[in-house]
Amino acid sequence: MSFDLRRVIRPEVQALSAYHVAPLPPGGVQAKLDANESPFMLAEALREDLAAELAKALADVELHRYPDPEARELREILAGDLGVAPEQLLVTNGSDEAIQLLLLAVAGPGVSVAAPVPTFVMYELGARALGLNFRGVPLSEGFDLDPERFRQTLETERPKLVFLAWPNNPTGRLFDATMVEAIIRTCDGLVVVDEAYTDYSGRSFLAKLKQYPNLVILRTLSKIGLAGIRVGMLIGSAGLVLELNKVRLPYNVNALSQAVGRVVLRHADVVRRRAATIVKERERILSALHGRAGVTAYPSDANFFLMRTGQPGDEVFRALHLRGILVRNFSRAPHLANCLRVTIGTPAENDLFLSALADILSQGG
Ligand code: PMP
Repeated sequence: MSFDLRRVIRPEVQALSAYHVAPLPPGGVQAKLDANESPFMLAEALREDLAAELAKALADVELHRYPDPEARELREILAGDLGVAPEQLLVTNGSDEAIQLLLLAVAGPGVSVAAPVPTFVMYELGARALGLNFRGVPLSEGFDLDPERFRQTLETERPKLVFLAWPNNPTGRLFDATMVEAIIRTCDGLVVVDEAYTDYSGRSFLAKLKQYPNLVILRTLSKIGLAGIRVGMLIGSAGLVLELNKVRLPYNVNALSQAVGRVVLRHADVVRRRAATIVKERERILSALHGRAGVTAYPSDANFFLMRTGQPGDEVFRALHLRGILVRNFSRAPHLANCLRVTIGTPAENDLFLSALADILSQGG
């Protein structure tokens, strides 16, 4: 019998490309500015007594047991911090998992999902993998929502899910809040406001949850120094959380991650203080690039910014890569010709980036 993998795997899966991570530079990494992580090691941020508390919590984890399937302790801490009932919050394996759970729960023949383009790629990837219709609504010139196009999509497609990353990735800006609210109000599906970068924008739709039963908010610990433990969360109506729990794998957040989350969130101030440093660095880099020939850096409300280069983006990306500076290359993505996304690093990494970029731009490649 001959086996043909292509006959077995769904065509929509075969048509996808896996989430891409660039190879490491041959001479080692000098500055990792490609994944919107925090550049600060948690261990450096924690005082000695906190580090000891963390070590003890990890040592106490019962590794021979399954973790708490509902991460109840962590959920109560997170819900308490956000001022919502624990029943309204679902702890997930990164917010990526929350995106997948939402898609799984609405998936069915003919179902549509909408999001602006360009935006975070997992909305489209996840939707297409499940055979859903993905409707990308192009952003305006200045990377804001296009209300008319959105209105049309809502009317003609009746999407069951709309994803709005706020601030948007990779463009970096918050969409106009009034337009976001208009979408929540007119959409008869769920509207997901993905607030992965809220610590850098200082803005949130959390207070609107009471008003809009179709509003869902996503948060993550990944962008504030804990990307390695994969903890994200969804906040919405208790009814929605109940439904999503049915499609969730039972032990989605492992015991070590739950333990780290519990300890670190008791000292959330330490983590959040780092966000202020990053915001300051973001503004420093953006003003250094402002008015520079050969590059347009777009304003940002996140811990990264998008820039468009005069010379081919692929070349600038490669030249940075050769110098050990990792950024994310969007040069060939629709709407993002010659665009690179740069995560804010430590002050030293940012200086390295700025001088390398100046060098590359002056040499023309
Ligand atoms: N949403 C947005 C807008 C993002 O940019 C990212 C990370 N790139 C995520 C969600 C996923 O984050 P995580 O799964 O690490 O929580």
